[in-house]
Amino acid sequence: MFKLHIIGAGTPTPSPNRFGTCYIAEIGDTLLMFDCGPAATYKMTRMGLWPTRVSHLFFSHHHFDHNADYPCFLLTRWDQSTEDVEPLRVYGPPPTRQVTEALIGESGAFFPDWQARVEHPGSREIYQARGGTLPRRPPAIEVQEIDTGDSVSGGCWKVTGARVKHIEPWMPTLAYRLEVKDTSLVMTSDTGLCPSITDFARGADYLLIHCWDLQARMQPSEAGMITGTQTAAQIAEECGAGQLLLSHLGPKLDRPEDRRTAVEDIEKRFGGAFDFVDELSTLELE
Ligand SMILES: [Zn+2]
Repeated sequence: MFKLHIIGAGTPTPSPNRFGTCYIAEIGDTLLMFDCGPAATYKMTRMGLWPTRVSHLFFSHHHFDHNADYPCFLLTRWDQSTEDVEPLRVYGPPPTRQVTEALIGESGAFFPDWQARVEHPGSREIYQARGGTLPRRPPAIEVQEIDTGDSVSGGCWKVTGARVKHIEPWMPTLAYRLEVKDTSLVMTSDTGLCPSITDFARGADYLLIHCWDLQARMQPSEAGMITGTQTAAQIAEECGAGQLLLSHLGPKLDRPEDRRTAVEDIEKRFGGAFDFVDELSTLELE
């Protein structure tokens, strides 16, 4: 059993209920972050999850609704750390390495920030008051770019990636399958209907799908890059998912009349249990 904290369950369109995507799996003492969308650091802290506790970050792709809080998160995690915190391990498709370098490398946007924190006497005193010892080390991020079939594991968990169909060839996108002992969760990220996601998600206990809108409102070109209510249900049915969780919801899907239509769309095509996930909520997966 493990917990899945829903930090961000929205799209690039901000709304009072949701904005961008970020999920944190809590497995014992381990926190694994999946995507780092807008305000992820602030929202996770509101849920009582402290950034230094996150050991691994997996990016599905680099649309801003999935990565915009990356600089805030990695700098906060570094700034609040003392020597006993391990380097952040970051995984994802290209351009994960390029994005990281462009943030904190020597020509990066935040290089002057961390250099000043490392070198200014006042900043050093603040760091020491937090329990750190000098000399202060620069931010340490270990980046590994991954693709279909690559996996990362630790203790009782394993994360495997698979390419899905989103905005290729501009940027590759990965779905992730998290296995914790006998429990499996597939997070599709943004994808249209494609054989790779159905195969990859086969038999998953939980299937977390990104659902953009009511299918009837979506153009064919949109439906090719991200699921609507009907294609989300179709994927869940075809892969035999135990439970369907719908996230990355466009703001209209929070309107009661549209939610009713969404439920009808899904009930007609998927025989299992399903739910629409809310930000700042926690699911117990077993
Ligand atoms: Zn996207």
